[in-house]
Amino acid sequence: MTVAYVALGGNEGDRLANLERAVSEMAEHVAVTRLSPIYETEPVGFADQPWFLNAVVAVETELSPQALLVVLQAVELTLGKATPFLNGPRTLDLDLLLFGVEVIDEPELVVPHPRMHERAFVLRPLADVAGDVVHPTLGKAIRELLSELDDQAEVRAWRGSSTVFPTHVEG
Ligand code: AMP
Repeated sequence: MTVAYVALGGNEGDRLANLERAVSEMAEHVAVTRLSPIYETEPVGFADQPWFLNAVVAVETELSPQALLVVLQAVELTLGKATPFLNGPRTLDLDLLLFGVEVIDEPELVVPHPRMHERAFVLRPLADVAGDVVHPTLGKAIRELLSELDDQAEVRAWRGSSTVFPTHVEG
C-alpha cells in the first residue's frame, strides 16, 4: 500500500462541483484518506481567465504509479477536461505529485511532479495534508519548501462551503 498525493485544480464551470465529483470518482479506484481545504488561486502564466479552485488529496493504493495516472486521466476525461492551450482554462486538472518515496522519470510520468515545488497553489494545500513529508529528491519537508517559496501569485482560503472538503482553518 502506497500513500500518494494528488493535486486538483479547475477554473471552468461549477468549480466546487467539479472538485467534489473528482474526489468521488477517484474513490471508486483508490482510498481517499485526507483532503486539504480548498484554496482560490490566481491564474499563473495566462492571467486573463477565471481564478482557480485548488486542493490536494492523499490516497492509499495498491496500484502502480502508472496505473494511478491512468485513473486520474480517466477522471479528468469524465469531467470533460478542456485545455485549449498551455496554462489556459480547464474544467479539472489532476496531477500526481508524490507516490511514496518513488522517483520516476518516464516520458508519460514524472514523479515527484517537476513543478510542484515552485507553485504556491500546490504547496499550500499539500502542506495541509503532508507538511512533514519529505520531498524525495529535494530532501526537504513540504512545509519547508512552502516557507522558502518565491511564488508571488495569490493563494487565498476559499470561503465557500463544501460537504466533502474541510473548512479552512487559518494557520
Ligand atoms: P497536463 O495537461 O498539464 O495535466 O499534462 C498532462 C500530461 O503530463 C500527460 O501527458 C501526462 O502523461 C504527463 N505527466 C507527466 N508526469 C505527470 C504527473 N506527475 N502527473 C500528471 N501528469 C503527468
